[in-house]
Amino acid sequence: MTTALRVLINGGGIGGLALATALARRGHTVEVAELRDEPAALGVGIIQPSNALHVMRELGVLDECLAAGFVWEFLTIADPAGNTLARIPQPRMDDVPAANGIPRPALAAILHAAAVAAGATVRHASTVTALDDDGEGVTVTLSDGSTSRWDLLVGFDGIGSPLRTHLYGDRYTPTYTGFANWRVTVPRHPDVSSVVMATAGQEAKALLTPITDELMYLGAVFAEPEDFRPDPDHAHEQLAKRLAVFSGPVAEALATVTDPSAIVYTRISQVTVDAPWHVGRVVLAGDAAHASTPHLAQGAAMALEDALVLAQSLDTTPSVPTALHTWESRRRPRALWVQALSHAVLKQEMGTPTTPEEDALLEIGIPGAAHALVKPY
Ligand SMILES: Cc1cc2nc3c(=O)[nH]c(=O)nc-3n(C[C@H](O)[C@H](O)[C@H](O)COP(=O)(O)OP(=O)(O)OC[C@H]3O[C@@H](n4cnc5c(N)ncnc54)[C@H](O)[C@@H]3O)c2cc1C
Repeated sequence: MTTALRVLINGGGIGGLALATALARRGHTVEVAELRDEPAALGVGIIQPSNALHVMRELGVLDECLAAGFVWEFLTIADPAGNTLARIPQPRMDDVPAANGIPRPALAAILHAAAVAAGATVRHASTVTALDDDGEGVTVTLSDGSTSRWDLLVGFDGIGSPLRTHLYGDRYTPTYTGFANWRVTVPRHPDVSSVVMATAGQEAKALLTPITDELMYLGAVFAEPEDFRPDPDHAHEQLAKRLAVFSGPVAEALATVTDPSAIVYTRISQVTVDAPWHVGRVVLAGDAAHASTPHLAQGAAMALEDALVLAQSLDTTPSVPTALHTWESRRRPRALWVQALSHAVLKQEMGTPTTPEEDALLEIGIPGAAHALVKPY
């Protein structure tokens, strides 16, 4: 498509800002309505696997991500005392690194600056409150009362997506998996120079992820009742109790945590929109369409791929509805494969019985999945 489009994106998280950058760089008029009142993100880290870094390169921000993060080329498996059991090389997509750990606030700042530099407008404390899609365009009212007309409205508004509710009511609400993720940022242990999975079998696993030269984050997943919340005064002790089987770098990391409020506790839920991700000129992308468990570290990578492929689809097809169709046929199989495999890995790691379909998916193994994911998206 050669015409400059007007695109409104609801949600300025990882996917929304990436899409804003990709579209604005192509000369489209782009606005982002973001509910939060300033650029911000959860104060822990995130893994950018090679396919995510590949998108960052296409957006022109790879070097900034690498400078703000910590690159590695191996997955290290360790015993509970931290002794290395295996070092598994991680594949590269083209010539970008295999993986980068980065603080989420640094990633949010890089993406926000890139979107603004490309010419997008990012409105904070803003959200879509009403919309009317007449087939030729979408008339949208924002929370400040302003009304404008757009060629395309994108819901990159996360796992709780209000635009998904607008399209489908409560048909696709997040489902709790029964497991929750405990995370805390700690000083980087000198021995942790790649992502390290320390394993005590099915009793517990702990992930140590370097995110800068100075920092790493400790993450662990446990079965928790849906209504469980860590004790605000003792959360760090509750995590230490769950990881008591570990010595070495995991125990040393836990010993540095004296503030219970440093613990970030997230219930792991997922959403699969099996109906079309686009209806007329409204489209859902990223977690809004296919929020997945974090077991392949691919949720944000899928949101980034969604963003870039949507911009590319608008480049190469004659109309917005055709572009959305092209985009969804490219994205749906890959994103839903990641989601299904990621959930199967969660079940396998936690000792939950898997279905025959999940067993078939798991045959690829984590190294095989990593190789499959550095193929063109
Ligand atoms: C414990 C955990 C660990 C993870 N680790 C990794 C990892 O290592 N690597 C990886 O690739 N992925 C990881 N993920 C997944 C990743 O965080 C998500 O998949 C990714 O953030 C999705 O991007 P998104 O843009 O779709 O949604 P989000 O990044 O969630 O952005 C949604 C945005 O929409 C905004 N919003 C919400 N409601 C509204 C509204 N009404 N109006 C306007 N704006 C709104 C939100 O404020 C937010 O800014 C992890 C997830 C979890 C839970």
